Amino acid sequence: MNIKIRPEVKAIRDKIIEIRRHLHKYPELAFREFKTAEFVAGELQELGLKVSMNVAKTGVVGLLEGPQSGPCIGLRADMDGLPIQETGSLPFKSVNDKVMHACGHDGHMAMLLGAARILTGFRDRLSGSVKFIFQPAEEGGGGAKYMIADGVLDNPSVDEIYGIHLWNYQEFGTVGIKDGPILAAADIFTITILGKGGHGAVPQNTVDAIVAASHLVTALQTIVSRNTNPLESTVVTVGMIEGGHNFNVIADKVVLKGTIRAYTDANRKMIIRRMNEIIVGIAKSFGAEISCIFEDGYPPTINSEPETSKAANAAKKIVGSGVQFPYMSMGAEDMSYYLEKVPGCFFFVGSSPEGVDPSEIPHHCSHFDINEEALLVGSSIWVQLIDDLIRT
Ligand SMILES: [Zn+2]
Ligand SMILES: [Zn+2]
Repeated sequence: MNIKIRPEVKAIRDKIIEIRRHLHKYPELAFREFKTAEFVAGELQELGLKVSMNVAKTGVVGLLEGPQSGPCIGLRADMDGLPIQETGSLPFKSVNDKVMHACGHDGHMAMLLGAARILTGFRDRLSGSVKFIFQPAEEGGGGAKYMIADGVLDNPSVDEIYGIHLWNYQEFGTVGIKDGPILAAADIFTITILGKGGHGAVPQNTVDAIVAASHLVTALQTIVSRNTNPLESTVVTVGMIEGGHNFNVIADKVVLKGTIRAYTDANRKMIIRRMNEIIVGIAKSFGAEISCIFEDGYPPTINSEPETSKAANAAKKIVGSGVQFPYMSMGAEDMSYYLEKVPGCFFFVGSSPEGVDPSEIPHHCSHFDINEEALLVGSSIWVQLIDDLIRT
């Protein structure tokens, strides 16, 4: 492995790690990132950047303008933690009850603040500007949508946008990147099955909602296995089943909740159509009443080709052959909203802690941690990218 951390990043290594640890210790939930926002704004103000606060409630935007005109490049980090009680033994473990940075967003902020510090030093030689975007509520709240509504992509208008996710599923020293779809759309469904309850020993004349639910869960699996083109990835997951009263009671109601993942709108629509057809069929076969509510989640995250090449080239200068192309995931991200408006690239920086099997520390687990050296890789790629794009 031949990683070339930028010397300017090496010089502020301790600062970047200190920022990450501070943010890790004081995590906040979506749209309540008040202290986090204050901290981030303070760091940006210290650099003399033009800083806007309260964008989408708790978002912060810093603007670095060079003396010559040129494109405006948006670099984005997310700020929210998750409602998880941290269980690991880190010395900078969360002190906020049931809130934890278990996805690496603390690291995203640290990498971007580190890069802002360095790039401010390049100010006199920039042809264009850099917008440092710190958004709230990535974990389900769709903070990006509100940032856009609050004008984050305007004044000056952002020409290209980039985002990094630290990624424990990838080895340290690698970068996962791809043009086109890189993350899936994530829709949510809630199915309610209404039957007719009764005595567990007298099933005749009842409509067993649990039996109908069991057939339904099995039938839903055939959408991916029988209706999807095997060369295109989709997922249908039933993640929750709730129903029944007691061992000797036939259940009159079952609620199922789950998620649909797809990379294309056509597949997204096909899955919803097939689910509805299966629901009608199962309802008829069992005499149950079944309804389903679909909620739109984040759209698929789709990278544009030229910007993906630019990001991949910058990454290559830092991690060399560690760039893994193409790399994709069935996860979802609200970075997708920016990428619907502006060309850009979202990519992954491998952050699996040393000597640990990546499957042992997945994102969103209560003992989540990252390899902090990956912060230096991320910061270096940010600096390299701006250096390549607008430094003269
Ligand atoms: Zn997450
Ligand atoms: Zn995340």
